[in-house]
Amino acid sequence: LKKRVQLPENKDELYDLSMSINGLLDRIESAIQRERQFTSDASHELRTPISSIRGTLEVLIRKERTREDYEDKINYSLGEIDRMSIIIEQLLFLARNDEGHSIDNSRETEIVSLIDQVINEYTAKLKKKNIQLVFNAKEVNNFQIHAYYGYAILNNVLENAIKYAYSGSTLIIDLKKKNSKPVVKIIDEGIGIKEEDIPKIFNPFFRSEGLEHKHIKGTGLGLSIVQKAAQAIGAKIEVSSIKNRGTTFTIHF
Ligand code: ADP
Repeated sequence: LKKRVQLPENKDELYDLSMSINGLLDRIESAIQRERQFTSDASHELRTPISSIRGTLEVLIRKERTREDYEDKINYSLGEIDRMSIIIEQLLFLARNDEGHSIDNSRETEIVSLIDQVINEYTAKLKKKNIQLVFNAKEVNNFQIHAYYGYAILNNVLENAIKYAYSGSTLIIDLKKKNSKPVVKIIDEGIGIKEEDIPKIFNPFFRSEGLEHKHIKGTGLGLSIVQKAAQAIGAKIEVSSIKNRGTTFTIHF
């Protein structure tokens, strides 16, 4: 903008200048609108479990209960508190201003060992759902990616792939080289995503309808984190999915 603000020499230039200022104002306005929406959604997401914990505890002190009832309600409240802690951690990641960190190459790590590390963290969940995980790595000699953002991307996409996969299915992680850069595909056999939902899944707090009936828990922030991390390191993410069949996330690092 600084460059553009010079005295226009004629009407056409004045018109162009006013159009570009208008465009800029529109973008600022919609960014402010998005921030407002985000704050209001975040408050709502935290207010809901707080009121439900409050309600549960109020019921508990009103009259004497059986031991089982106490345990039940306290465990429920603890579960809600855990959920709130996850939301808060995720919000902090999204709010953190880490400009500068993204170009810090000293924080790079070897991609195969990063993928191995992420897979290891999900051993118990994979076992519990009886999911067979296959990791193929071809022609990937010593690729380095950003440790912090690379981890954020791989961890969240893999967590979803396991969470939304059918029990007993196969999950494939495929690492290849394209134009001398690493490309990771995470391919699950699971509930899939409706076509009209695909453009929305990276929006904060978006969750496909009906998930709660399937008892799949989540906050709707995982993919916003993926998007922020991808933008920070210039990675591109593609999603393709078939409802009730499965989903493929392709990450071009
Ligand atoms: P959540 O905590 O709900 O998983 P995310 O931001 O990680 O939040 O994902 C947003 C939504 O995208 C999910 O609620 C789900 O509807 C959809 N989604 C993401 N990954 C997958 C996947 N691998 N299979 C099916 N649906 C997915």
